[in-house]
Amino acid sequence: MAQIEPKPGIMEIALYEGGKATLDGVSNVVKLSSNENPYGPSPAAQEAVRRTVHELHRYPSTDHAALRQAIADMHGLDAARIICGVGSDEVIHFLCQAYAGPGSEVIHTEHGFAMYRISTLVAGGTPVEVPERERVTDVDSILNACNDSTRLVFIANPNNPTGTMIGLAEIERLAEGLPPQCLLVLDGAYAEYVEGYDGGARLVEMRDNVVMTRTFSKLYGLGGLRVGWGYAPKPVIDVLNRVRGPFNLSGTALAAAEAAVRDTAYVEKCRDDNTRLRAWLSEALAEHGVPCDTSTANFVLARFGSREEAEACDTYLQSQGLIVRRVAGYKLPNCLRITVGDEASCRRVAYCVGQFKAGAR
Ligand code: PMP
Repeated sequence: MAQIEPKPGIMEIALYEGGKATLDGVSNVVKLSSNENPYGPSPAAQEAVRRTVHELHRYPSTDHAALRQAIADMHGLDAARIICGVGSDEVIHFLCQAYAGPGSEVIHTEHGFAMYRISTLVAGGTPVEVPERERVTDVDSILNACNDSTRLVFIANPNNPTGTMIGLAEIERLAEGLPPQCLLVLDGAYAEYVEGYDGGARLVEMRDNVVMTRTFSKLYGLGGLRVGWGYAPKPVIDVLNRVRGPFNLSGTALAAAEAAVRDTAYVEKCRDDNTRLRAWLSEALAEHGVPCDTSTANFVLARFGSREEAEACDTYLQSQGLIVRRVAGYKLPNCLRITVGDEASCRRVAYCVGQFKAGAR
């Protein structure tokens, strides 16, 4: 039987590879490959999940009013400009579905998050990759790549997998220079790790061409429940709500996220721990001859001498029960991305990298 072809672009999509969670035949495994919060979600969020067990036969809220209000209260935002999705992945997807399509271009950076390209291709648009400068987003390269067909520009700030960040003045210059039919999407999946950074929320309020996306999967420790959100000018929210399915988030996910965002003490504790342990890990790896870029997120990008060395180190770490992330798919073949775990995991990974550099295989 002849194969029925999908629409153009779909077969160009490389399947997204999530971080592994287990290793065959190895026990006591620590997963440091998906930038998860090693402490899990706040106890208040866990309690909220338990309470929803009695409501499982009910359809969830369609407008997510309670969660949007909680986010608005805690971040000082306007609830009417918030949209919630199944992870920020889904908000990215809504944006591509609504604004990109055949004949349109979507810009992402050289070492940018994989979903920008995937969602663009699903929508039928053309992804355009622009170079970075020393693993840092380069505003001029982005502006040079824009044309009459550019509909979206995605930048993550902090960026994954580099951990680097660009300043708000640069972002504002980018927003200012974009063509009129183009939206700038500021992906703030790791914004909570940067003390005092609003992820670009104020810029969204000042301009009609900027959207911010955020997630509960990282600092809030709710990756398993899949909740993300976007903050955008009201007309954009009105567009995105037409693309969104009516019951996209479960009642359990909504309740957990609402409790998590209100638990500021837990958020601060997790942020402080991450800041302290990230500095410790970067220094420990550098002492073993593996420098890391200055990270502002909950992971470090460890640089090896070559692709072969990075892969050999990854293989050795796996033999020791440690799962980190290869990032060759992000054009960083000589690097490994390592999530900042709890103190014991940081010590273990630093020790094992040291053993590897000392000749262990
Ligand atoms: N943006 C960036 C930069 C990410 O690293 C991730 C997760 N890896 C996401 C968005 C999507 O996260 P989620 O869908 O879990 O919110």
